[in-house]
Amino acid sequence: MAVCAECGQNFLPDNVVAIQGVTVCGGCKPGYLKRLQEGSAAAGGFQYKGFWTRFVAKFVDGLITQVAGMLIGVAVGVAAGGNQSFAVVGIEMLIGLVIGFSYPIFFNGRYGATPGKMMIGARIVNADGTPISYAKAAGRAFSEILSALTLLFGYMMAGWDPQKRALHDRICGTIVIQK
Ligand SMILES: [Zn+2]
Repeated sequence: MAVCAECGQNFLPDNVVAIQGVTVCGGCKPGYLKRLQEGSAAAGGFQYKGFWTRFVAKFVDGLITQVAGMLIGVAVGVAAGGNQSFAVVGIEMLIGLVIGFSYPIFFNGRYGATPGKMMIGARIVNADGTPISYAKAAGRAFSEILSALTLLFGYMMAGWDPQKRALHDRICGTIVIQK
């Protein structure tokens, strides 16, 4: 099998072509050639953000969502009058979950980057460099569960992928580039 550098899908070797050493599938070839002509293709255009800078961004985003979750949790706790029933703890956990997903979906859908990624000057885009939609941001947020479930192996994939794609980037056809 051969992996298309543009869409990240697997293809039989017969169905891909190598353009200046970059493997692309038949579907992505026209767009890739067009971008090569425009000088914005992977060969010279995108500067990919690697594992460690993204790790810093992830850490910052984690802090922000944890603090936000804690503040709302405290507010819920106060509203519940110190009652620590299952229902109250359940609501607090649910709020944490909602924040954990709505944060990347909102920021990535609207700006192409979470505050953490903005801080490192990164932007998440489609393989062709176009901005991602809210739907793509949502898909990416949920795919990220897989990266976490694989004992962070999915995140580490960004370390050795030529386009620095984590598992959830490969699933969603996204890349993380220098803005
Ligand atoms: Zn392709």
